[in-house]
Parts: sequence; structure tokens; C-alpha cells
Amino acid sequence: MLCPKHPQEALLTGQLEAGLTSHSCPTCHGSWVAADDYQTWQPTHADPSIRVSNLTVPINHSGDFQPSRYDNRAGLCPNCGFYLVRGRINLQKTAFFIERCPGCKGTWYDDGEWALLDKLGLSAYIPVLFTDEWHSYVRSAEAEFRERTATAEKLGTDIAEKLFELAKLLEQHPNGDFGVAYLMRRFEK
Ligand SMILES: [Zn+2]
Ligand SMILES: [Zn+2]
Repeated sequence: MLCPKHPQEALLTGQLEAGLTSHSCPTCHGSWVAADDYQTWQPTHADPSIRVSNLTVPINHSGDFQPSRYDNRAGLCPNCGFYLVRGRINLQKTAFFIERCPGCKGTWYDDGEWALLDKLGLSAYIPVLFTDEWHSYVRSAEAEFRERTATAEKLGTDIAEKLFELAKLLEQHPNGDFGVAYLMRRFEK
């Protein structure tokens, strides 16, 4: 098998982590995981009761991550030669793509991507990250994140935090709309 990003390089078989067979490129340190190998590893790491809405939204990751310089390069499946389909993962400071073959469902992780997905608690849910349900969940969480960020920029963090807390309290209260109406009246003047 050849590296999707360096077609002159043969992939070397190893383990991405204990019990997970992978094939890695000695040049870019990206790793290929065959669908069968993933399916062997996944059941012992995934919580079957977890729902998409319980998964961590990557936009909440505020840490630093430097995507591989090969992340933007299109790649061919080392197994069947199809173009790999890219799934965009947005972090607070940057974004990267995970890649999957539409034919054999094998996945490719550029250097560092698997470790980060693992850290986010998403490595055992890779197939979910390519579903419409995940995309719509992430889109609304990202919209909320941007709205909160913009609010904090306008009002300052202290007031913004109080406002979010109040909004949550009003949302949960059966007469919460009275509180909203009060605020609206105060600002009608
Ligand atoms: Zn490579
Ligand atoms: Zn394939």
C-alpha cells in the first residue's frame, strides 16, 4: 500500500494505538486504518449508549493544534484508488480534514489528527463524523459558539456570562417569558 499523500512511499504496518492496526507513512507520519481493523478495535472503546448530541463538539477545543502540512493535499485510497472524501473538523483556532474512502471505508489521519480526535473523545466514533446528523449537530453548536463569542466581545466576559446564565434560567422557568418581556420593556425607551 502506498501513502495517499506520497504515492512513492510504501506504508509500514504498525499500531495506531494498542489493538488498532494501522499503516503509516515514514515521510508524513500519516496513518491509514482499514475498515476491518477499525471495526475490530471500536466496540471495546465506544460507549454503545452514547448519542451524537453527547459527543464533544470540536469547536470547544481551545488548545493549539498545528494541522499537518499535507492536510490540504487530496489523497487516493491506498486500497482501491478512489479519491478520499474529506470531513472538515473545525476547532476554535484552526480546522483540519479527516479522510475516508467511499469504497472500502478505510480512513486516513494526517500526522497528529488521530491523537487529537482521541483527546476529544471522538476516535471511537469516526463513522458518525461523516453523517448528516453529526454535521447538523456541529453546525448549530458552532452557530451558538460564534454568537456567544460575539456577545462576549460586545459586552465583556463578565456581563456575557451573567447574560448566558440568566438566559438559561429563563429558558428553564415556566414563566421565563415574563423576564424576557421585562427586559424588552426596559430597552424600548
Ligand atoms: Zn506520506
Ligand atoms: Zn478504498
